Amino acid sequence: MIAAVDETHDPALQSWVESANDPATDFPIQNLPFGRFRRADDMDWRIGVAIGDQVLDLRRARLLETYDMNRLMRLLPEVRQALRLAISQGLRRDSPQESVFRDALVPQSRVRMGLPCEIGDYTDFYTGIHHATTVGKLFRPDNPLLPNYKWVPIGYHGRASTINASPNTFKRPLGQRMPPGATQPTLAPSARLDYELEVGLIIGRPNPQGEPIRMKDAEDHLFGVVLLNDWSARDIQAWEYQPLGPFLSKNFASTISPWIVTMEALAPFRRPFSRPEGDPQPLPYLDSPGNRERGAIDMGLEVWIQTSAMREAGHAGDRLSRSNFTDAYWTAAQLVAHHTVNGCSLSNGDLFGSGTLSGPMPEQAGSLLELTHGGVQPLRLSNGEMRSFLHDGDAIVLRGRCEQGGFRSIGFGECAGTVQPALDPGNL
Ligand code: MN
Repeated sequence: MIAAVDETHDPALQSWVESANDPATDFPIQNLPFGRFRRADDMDWRIGVAIGDQVLDLRRARLLETYDMNRLMRLLPEVRQALRLAISQGLRRDSPQESVFRDALVPQSRVRMGLPCEIGDYTDFYTGIHHATTVGKLFRPDNPLLPNYKWVPIGYHGRASTINASPNTFKRPLGQRMPPGATQPTLAPSARLDYELEVGLIIGRPNPQGEPIRMKDAEDHLFGVVLLNDWSARDIQAWEYQPLGPFLSKNFASTISPWIVTMEALAPFRRPFSRPEGDPQPLPYLDSPGNRERGAIDMGLEVWIQTSAMREAGHAGDRLSRSNFTDAYWTAAQLVAHHTVNGCSLSNGDLFGSGTLSGPMPEQAGSLLELTHGGVQPLRLSNGEMRSFLHDGDAIVLRGRCEQGGFRSIGFGECAGTVQPALDPGNL
């Protein structure tokens, strides 16, 4: 079942945590995302809920016995809903639990956020049809979308070990590159390092091997949503991707935002799923009445860049593009149903990437590959710097926000990463 709107979404709710009542906050009382945090003196990760500029420690608030986020994520949807209601009630203005909860608050500025859970497997999809079309045109101008695209949710198995929480710094990858006109490849730092604006879906409840998850049950297996930057080395990718797809061009770093916004929190922002006129309808195993009515998620997305020159000048950065999760060709439930239709088992903590979410307009592209037309039309930034691909010191920040008239808007926090210089390939 897709979570329904209930009293926790009431836009009139206010919190005794005053910063949560600021209209600009990502974390009003209607959001209540889960993350793992540590204070300087903590041995273990603790489970917290973001409220305004604070974190509520769920164990200290006597709402949970465990520090194990993956266990929490495996709870049945009705138990998750009851926990959400208890958190909401305790944080409401005039709550009798205020004094207990107040002792369990820590300012976000005083904690370090980790990965929100132990990540299981990682699958990256390719649901951004505008991205797939634009990138396809770079290679096949007459036939950008391959014939399977509108039938199969395309994906590949990625790698979970190099997924990091924001803020993430990582070295520019080394790899084999075959520059145009060269007769043999060389090992060198990627010269075409790019970001990908994606939404990450976190699986809460596993399924046994051999038992596909039906569309009607798919959302019971989803715990929530994060922002995902699937950093990509386009030159390494171009040389390695045939015939088995992306490999080392994609697994040197992936960054996710530290707060999981739950499927329950997203209830007011669900939208109908439909196909454009003339496109094939999904096969029956990828279709359900609930998916048609509310399968999509209206989630506004933004990409920002801050170069090292901007940082030194105190410049907050430039927005590179905006798009929306509704630009995806397949819904979250369809990805779950398709991934398991062959009997594949999903694990608690698995991460699905949506694929790069570009809007229909060129300026809504979710990667530099698209914004610069394969690197041939560099972008001019507001301080005069030019970018075809990322330079060392560049920081990319993804943001997300859900808005709907009659409801409180909620946000996702930041998904930030900074590129550091590569190792010297001569030392390998
Ligand atoms: Mn990707």
